[in-house]
Amino acid sequence: MAAVSSSVRRTPLIAGNWKMNLDHLQAIAFVQKLAWSLKDAGHDFSAVEVSVFPPYTDLRSVQTLVSADKLPIAYGAQDVSEHASGAFTGEISALFLAALECRYVIIGHSERRILHHETDEQVSLKVVAALENNLTPIICVGETADDLETHGASAVPVAQLRAALAEVRSAADIVVAYEPVWAIGSGQAATPEQAEQVAAALRAVLVELLGEDVAAKTRILYGGSVKSGNIASFMREPNVDGALVGGASIDVTEFASIVRYQKHVGL
Ligand code: PEP
Repeated sequence: MAAVSSSVRRTPLIAGNWKMNLDHLQAIAFVQKLAWSLKDAGHDFSAVEVSVFPPYTDLRSVQTLVSADKLPIAYGAQDVSEHASGAFTGEISALFLAALECRYVIIGHSERRILHHETDEQVSLKVVAALENNLTPIICVGETADDLETHGASAVPVAQLRAALAEVRSAADIVVAYEPVWAIGSGQAATPEQAEQVAAALRAVLVELLGEDVAAKTRILYGGSVKSGNIASFMREPNVDGALVGGASIDVTEFASIVRYQKHVGL
């Protein structure tokens, strides 16, 4: 496996994917409470970055709140169109997300791939659309239970990452999220060792495709039934740089506790 410089420090990222939960009023209350509970607890936002991914209809409200109160919380969308504009009913352009000062966008979540039949090619085009608009894509990859049995853990995530990066040439700012489909919403998280094994394989792909420097600074998240009780065990792994959290991200106390993993386990 390709070696990557260990001298690069990657700021851990805890990302909350709200999915289709919380309307714009609930979003305002949630983000306010999250920011204040983390501040009250003395959270160092430069040591562990916090981000939320509300539904599209909440983004303008979240932007207004974050900007008015100068909250140290990043936000982004759960998906983006591969097109810039035009006759694509229901789609949202990366241009529009950039205009709302989104920092990130989740691309290729397994719910998009499975429920909306999103292809590797679309994922790749969405990554390009995000990068062209200075949005950092959080590229989701992961194997189903069948894939795991047939191909082992790394084969599908590695192939999905290669496809997602097919059109990316430069030292782009990207985040990769390894999310085994069988672990999402199931309460059955991968083991930290499984997550580390796949994260290391994904980093080797980054070395090969984008070079050692980009690979060394790219954050790889684990996602799938992350809770306050198991986050620290993932964060001990050298190639795991944060978490993409689904269900637990809409419980503000639980999400704040996940963000504060260093404190409650004394890391
Ligand atoms: C997700 O949907 O990205 C996810 C990781 O969900 P959960 O945390 O609920 O497993």
